[in-house]
Amino acid sequence: MIRNIRRANARRSREWRINTYGLYEIHRFQRLTVLGASGVGGGSHTDAGIQDEPSSQYWADFPAEITPSVMAPYIARVRTMSQLTQAPTHSQQPSPGVAGDAASPGLDLTYLPAALTAGAELWPLCEATRISTHLNGYAIEALDLRTGTSVTVHADRLVLAAGTMNTLRLLFAARDRDHSLPHVSRTLGQRFYPAATQPQVLGPIPSEESTHVASTMRPTGAGIAMLAKIYRPMTVVPADRLSATVRAVPGGVTADVTRQRSPETSEQKAADAKSVGPSVDIWHTWLPQRLGLSAHPVGGAALASTRFQGVASHTGEVFGQPRLYVVDGSTLPTAPEVAPSLPIAALAERYAELMLQEA
Ligand SMILES: Cc1cc2nc3c(=O)[nH]c(=O)nc-3n(C[C@H](O)[C@H](O)[C@H](O)COP(=O)(O)OP(=O)(O)OC[C@H]3O[C@@H](n4cnc5c(N)ncnc54)[C@H](O)[C@@H]3O)c2cc1C
Repeated sequence: MIRNIRRANARRSREWRINTYGLYEIHRFQRLTVLGASGVGGGSHTDAGIQDEPSSQYWADFPAEITPSVMAPYIARVRTMSQLTQAPTHSQQPSPGVAGDAASPGLDLTYLPAALTAGAELWPLCEATRISTHLNGYAIEALDLRTGTSVTVHADRLVLAAGTMNTLRLLFAARDRDHSLPHVSRTLGQRFYPAATQPQVLGPIPSEESTHVASTMRPTGAGIAMLAKIYRPMTVVPADRLSATVRAVPGGVTADVTRQRSPETSEQKAADAKSVGPSVDIWHTWLPQRLGLSAHPVGGAALASTRFQGVASHTGEVFGQPRLYVVDGSTLPTAPEVAPSLPIAALAERYAELMLQEA
């Protein structure tokens, strides 16, 4: 299951490769553990498939070009492309933010076939290790994990979509270790948010239905269905409000974490859950809380109006590095109050459209 574990303290980061074919990556920092996904299709293979739309207020933190009405058609496009279906609900569900408003299958059934049909080439198990400028474009060095050999690819335009933690690792390495992208903004690593700001509860749902919900949400989510069977009802990812700064250290990156207790704490959420499901146990919430567990890291390469405020413009293009784009969760300048994959995908739709117009 686990591909690698990266453990960082204030001074250095170390990595242990557990299984090249594993699906999960664990990034362990002081007071924060980030669970990430690996493999072509990324988080869509491991996530719960819940896609929530953030409130219109959320977009106020973005550059002026990005507004709720600008984003509406891209959100609609993601809903269509992702084959979103309404997640089954239960009359006893406690509060907003529960069980999501819609659920989708993984990218292997949605965007990836469309990309292949359009001529995309997939290189699974190739890990980009280094990015640099080359002539008027970029060179990407990658390690082919199947053969252990290195490959270098050149491109006029480079679109970086390695997920929040890995995009930050690649950009920090290029700017500070290799000095190969020296113009990347000094704000890199700031405005990093480890978790959705609002704690979330999946369920509680009676056992039969929770298995049904899990398997309806994600046909490939056998692990979730199994968890739903063991933990009934199931309570997931309560978190205090965490904010952090990511910075380079030898061996990778580390995160300096600030934890703020908000009125909407895990205890409150647990109480909500208990009020409708007597068997919800505080232990389900205690461990994630202690670990500072997050599966929803966003930001660190924030969109902004200038390089003094963020890393990329509203088009996803990195300030100071023409035709280098970041199109993943790292570009979100703040955490949505919901699970992040729908806003990430909607922004990616917009970046792609603008890139095509420019080309
Ligand atoms: C267990 C779990 C449950 C979740 N549940 C939900 C949910 O229900 N709803 C929701 O909205 N969100 C959920 N999330 C979060 C969601 O999966 C992520 O927010 C989302 O996938 C982030 O998208 P992304 O494009 O930024 O990165 P990712 O989806 O992580 O994609 C990054 C891709 O880049 C690849 N990559 C990384 N480094 C390199 C490299 N060096 N070279 C080449 N390729 C590389 C990775 O293998 C991966 O394919 C969950 C996450 C987890 C882990």
